[in-house]
Amino acid sequence: MIDGDTSMHYYSSKAWQRLRNMYLSLHPVCEICVQYGHVEPATEVHHIRRFMAETNEAARWNTFLNENNLVSLCSKCHYGCHNHMRKHHTDECGMLTQEEWEQAQVQYGNLYGNYNYEEDE
Ligand SMILES: [Zn+2]
Ligand SMILES: [Zn+2]
Repeated sequence: MIDGDTSMHYYSSKAWQRLRNMYLSLHPVCEICVQYGHVEPATEVHHIRRFMAETNEAARWNTFLNENNLVSLCSKCHYGCHNHMRKHHTDECGMLTQEEWEQAQVQYGNLYGNYNYEEDE
């Protein structure tokens, strides 16, 4: 694969490490779970809009490092968001319906192993 076609160099950038740590310390609780009255520590920072959906490198960096495009999630809700995007063929997801949220809490354990979203956080 040509460098620039993978998300690897974005995640390994110092700018991302800094932004991710800062965002998690400001938003330590899963932002979706809390909407449903559940307090769960956030462990992952998700991009609401997939930065890899942008067509050029500058736009990708812009979306990648845009604080307003981030949401702190637990791994179950993170799975739920990527599942939602895959299912609905959309490039954006920052919230789950209550039904999707409940499903993610249950399905996660079974399906997580089959789905690798790490390349496209
Ligand atoms: Zn959650
Ligand atoms: Zn994600």
